[in-house]
Amino acid sequence: MLKKLVGASVLLGLVSSVAVAGECDVAIEATASMAFSAKEITINKTCKEVNLTLKNAGTMPKAAMGHNLVITKKADMQSVLADGNAAGLGKNFVKENDDRVIANTAVLGGGESATIKFKTDKLNAKDTFAFFCSFPGHAAVMNGVVKVN
Ligand code: ZN
Repeated sequence: MLKKLVGASVLLGLVSSVAVAGECDVAIEATASMAFSAKEITINKTCKEVNLTLKNAGTMPKAAMGHNLVITKKADMQSVLADGNAAGLGKNFVKENDDRVIANTAVLGGGESATIKFKTDKLNAKDTFAFFCSFPGHAAVMNGVVKVN
């Protein structure tokens, strides 16, 4: 089921908007210009689980311009990316059973969307958490911060 997108986040280029949806739902888009629609995902600390929806608003097939969304500690991002790159598209550019990965969607082609549910117990106030696309070469521009408020 496609969750209603946050109004501001659907505007292309408005990268500073914040992807906050009602309650424990978060929706974010990968835009046609290889960017996320928000630079920040805010998760309500009362949420034990979050429903996260990613939509690829582009038109290209996933092998050419696919996007996923991965959440890790910021400190783990580069090593998770390296292992994801080695894992390949068939594994959605995420190493199997990677304990560093708090949540990840599949790699989506243009026009596709997916909703995942993940537990928030690994998120805390003392570490910094990042979200990014692990498709090779994308994370340098496709990344943001996960905040727990
Ligand atoms: Zn991407």
